[in-house]
Amino acid sequence: MKITVVGTGYVGLVTGTCFAETGNTVTCVDIDTNKITKLMSGEITIYEPGLEKIFLRNLKEERLLFTTSLAEGIKDSPIIFLALPTPPGEDGSADLKYVLGVAEELGKLIEPGDYKIIVDKSTVPVGTSEKVREAILQSAAKNSKGKNIEQSFDVVSNPEFLREGVAVEDFMKPDRVVVGTHSEKAKKLMNQLFAPFVRQGNPVIFMDERSAELTKYAANSFLATKISFMNEVAQLCELMGADVDMVRRGMGSDERIGKRFLFPGIGYGGSCFPKDVQALVKSSQEVNYDFRILNAVMDVNNKQKLHLLPKLRKYFKGQLKGKHFAVWGLAFKPNTDDIREAPALEMIHALLEEGATVTAFDPEAMHNVRTLLGDKIEFAESQYAALKGADALIIATEWNEFRTPDFLKIVSSLKNKAIFDGRNLFDVAAIRELGFHYVSIGRADAN
Ligand code: NAD
Repeated sequence: MKITVVGTGYVGLVTGTCFAETGNTVTCVDIDTNKITKLMSGEITIYEPGLEKIFLRNLKEERLLFTTSLAEGIKDSPIIFLALPTPPGEDGSADLKYVLGVAEELGKLIEPGDYKIIVDKSTVPVGTSEKVREAILQSAAKNSKGKNIEQSFDVVSNPEFLREGVAVEDFMKPDRVVVGTHSEKAKKLMNQLFAPFVRQGNPVIFMDERSAELTKYAANSFLATKISFMNEVAQLCELMGADVDMVRRGMGSDERIGKRFLFPGIGYGGSCFPKDVQALVKSSQEVNYDFRILNAVMDVNNKQKLHLLPKLRKYFKGQLKGKHFAVWGLAFKPNTDDIREAPALEMIHALLEEGATVTAFDPEAMHNVRTLLGDKIEFAESQYAALKGADALIIATEWNEFRTPDFLKIVSSLKNKAIFDGRNLFDVAAIRELGFHYVSIGRADAN
């Protein structure tokens, strides 16, 4: 099949590459000329484990093509995926300008009789499929007299559930594929397209467009709720002298609860959870519904991002001014270079505001933070180089390579034997034995 993917970011590039890997010819479109030039020349633009190898293979086989021209990209292609940004607008609702902008362009390009399905992979509020359809029709009517394309396209909702860091695996073997459409024709094509990805029997769940759109927000909001819930349990553990690791294990072995997403920390970040929870709250308000739980989820998360700060102040007797900190981890989670809404950044801003200085290390995300913060902080070449002369180590992202560090090297570089761990990487008793002042989340050490 010939497929087009419009928007070649984290979702678009993974989607395009994985569809090419199953034999389709995929053209990825993006307005970012620099990005397209790099991709055309074989330079991958995001860090995602396993992606580069299949990207290069499919580029070489000419099953993966890139262009900045939408007209060229959709030529002869019956399926057009939209993987465009839907960032929060000023009021917190999802900004649809990218999605509707492309819809308008498509209205000029779709020809009567040349059937296409427009598949929305972006995370969008309920009712967006109808808006996209309307935008296409209006633009077609405005731009070419008499052109009737009403029967020439369907708009389908196909929310994406991939996780950055394991995106290729998630895309190639999804737990489920959700497809929202009323069109039998679109259903048939989507079934065909996704068949190679669900060979193990995972379902392609068909539903109406509105339910599909809401499914994505509900899923992300539920996961964010789990995290905030555990962060509140961790707070209680600190106040009551319980250990959140034990509580987590005790809870998670109940099959109704499950083991995943029960890890406390310094809050969730990333390009999805914060914006999606906020957007669902906003959408709820628009239908006069107050989604109370989600307001609390956001509130807990905002506070959690700075959970370590009072503990740092306490250790340094109220004075962070003039202190120098090593920060391990900048990405919002391990195995990605994505720093959108990363808790590490919030922490760093707070430290700088209090007059402290920071040297940071992250295995993949430093280039992005450098663009954002310039020389406001220093960057180290290795996790150990970051420690040199620092008053304490702060851990903000649970990269695997931070899990079993050389503690002797840590001791020899830090001014104080102090670690503030926002991701609970180390065994409390073991690290205490080494003589560290060790602060983590919701465990016996934390006060
Ligand atoms: P991104 O910012 O990484 O990528 C979006 C791309 O679209 C950029 O390369 C941008 O240049 C391009 N673009 C913008 N306007 C364009 C236009 N008019 N024509 C062509 N290209 C254009 O975003 P992302 O993280 O890939 O997210 C895309 C959507 O998928 C969002 O709605 C997001 O919520 C959703 N989503 C993201 C993830 C994730 O883990 N990142 C997971 C599931 C769903």
